[in-house]
Amino acid sequence: MTRTFPDSVDVVVVGSGPTGAAYARILSERAPAATIALFEAGPALTDPPGMHVKNIAGFAAQRAAQRRSEGLHPHTDGEPGQYADPARRILRPGTHLLPEGYQAPGEDGLPALAMSTNVGGMGAHWTGACPRPGDGERMGFLPDLDELLDEAERLLEVDRHPLAGAPYTDLVRSRLADAFDAGRAPDRRVQPMPLAVHRRPDGALVWTGPDIVFGDVTRNNPNFTLYAESPVQRVLVEDGRAVGVLVAGQEVRARFVVVAADALRTPQLLFASGVRPPALGRYLNDQPQTVFAVRLRDVASAADVTTGAEIIGQSGVGWVPYTDEHPFHGQVMQLDASPIPLVSEDEPSPGTIVGLGWFCGKDLQASDRIAFSTDEVDDYGMPKPSIHYTLTARDRASLAAAREQILRAARALGEFIGDEPLLLAPGASLHYQGTTRMGPADDGTSVCGPNSEVWGVTGLYVAGNNVIPTPIACNPTLTSVALAVAGARDIASQLVLQSAAGAAIGGDHA
Ligand code: FAD
Repeated sequence: MTRTFPDSVDVVVVGSGPTGAAYARILSERAPAATIALFEAGPALTDPPGMHVKNIAGFAAQRAAQRRSEGLHPHTDGEPGQYADPARRILRPGTHLLPEGYQAPGEDGLPALAMSTNVGGMGAHWTGACPRPGDGERMGFLPDLDELLDEAERLLEVDRHPLAGAPYTDLVRSRLADAFDAGRAPDRRVQPMPLAVHRRPDGALVWTGPDIVFGDVTRNNPNFTLYAESPVQRVLVEDGRAVGVLVAGQEVRARFVVVAADALRTPQLLFASGVRPPALGRYLNDQPQTVFAVRLRDVASAADVTTGAEIIGQSGVGWVPYTDEHPFHGQVMQLDASPIPLVSEDEPSPGTIVGLGWFCGKDLQASDRIAFSTDEVDDYGMPKPSIHYTLTARDRASLAAAREQILRAARALGEFIGDEPLLLAPGASLHYQGTTRMGPADDGTSVCGPNSEVWGVTGLYVAGNNVIPTPIACNPTLTSVALAVAGARDIASQLVLQSAAGAAIGGDHA
């Protein structure tokens, strides 16, 4: 990693989370002669870059890596950060909150809106749940969605039957199946949650981070360079075409620019660059969420298995898929996999307690949006964001119904921990969608087309959950990596064609 930037490359990628890494990987595989510069605002935490922080040996080292991901005001291992109001805002290791502008007067806002700033992005901290979208979650205008999802599973090394031999996996599945399976299509019945996990050469089962998405093909690609601590300030656009970026004060010219900078900072960078289509920042949706915890009924109490940097199967991760009739995504996770601390730290973990999370799809509104100031800047010198976000009557009805569903699951599984499910503050899902959404036509309700290229700006692509146009309730990363695969293939085929036509790949881009 170096801060001496090239004057020009074929492709600039902004952001090193799972979707930015997917672009680098597909381009390395399909257009290996193309020069690629990936700029990441945050620091590199691991070698190889982008490894999941939970795979780092030693609690202190994990904590240090989380802290380095928390932006300019880290909170891990210290007093809660200066913006903290833990009751509503949920400080989570490895993430940092939007300091202000997260709730307009009279609106629900997104008090728990968070991001990660490090090589690997949130993908170095995530839980790896990779369900496929179903029924109304799917994008009807993408006929090849299943093939793209297959490819995303390859890049993320998704295991569809993880922790299969764990002591209580079958028990959890069968209790949930008795409660939920009636009337469901076979692929939408209760099943193990596909997880992005993999076995290291030493046999340990560990979490997949963007290091796995990059893979050796990207790391060994002499034409690929990752630049950490290099925030991109602007995409350069000339005559309706992206021609490069301004990064840390320096211009880097490029034939293609991919912005994969999360659902807040992707529209922010476009706005800063003067790319402001009507749908930019709009249709923002976070998955309204309720959580609960249960001690499994009639099972032997577990020994205190202390997990280090390895996943120990206990009750696994169960999945109650979304359907149009039951429009909720349900997941039941062994305790150490739950992204929300649900019980005291003294409980054996993974133990016999499971964490339940039920997510709803948002009732989409164009008025739910991230807006940006034209005269004020944030701590990074970028246009200051403000959130406008309201739960509708339909959202409140969905949450009430989700509460009934999570109680049904809890009764099926065991004894309640606590009196009733918790309703988390908006933003807690960490799944923010829609702010540069994809659409089949440039009709003002979308920012990019089916290949993720921004309408009206040739060569500018967007990536991340922000591209997903449907209000999906399931964990979105598999889907956003699938959409990134389509965009990367589109760029790769143009590069290969240009190369065949005699244009010098890696040459000047005047
Ligand atoms: P990110 O991973 O957010 O990466 C964006 C990157 O862009 C960041 O590194 C950021 O620093 C960088 N960036 C921003 N602005 C700039 C700039 N101007 N210049 C350069 N770089 C910039 N999802 C699931 O699907 N399943 C789960 O089980 C799951 N569990 C989660 C648990 C936790 C604790 C967390 C934190 C997240 C979880 N998620 C989960 C969400 C998942 O991590 C995200 O959906 C995924 O990481 C999004 O990938 P991305 O590439 O779009 O963005």
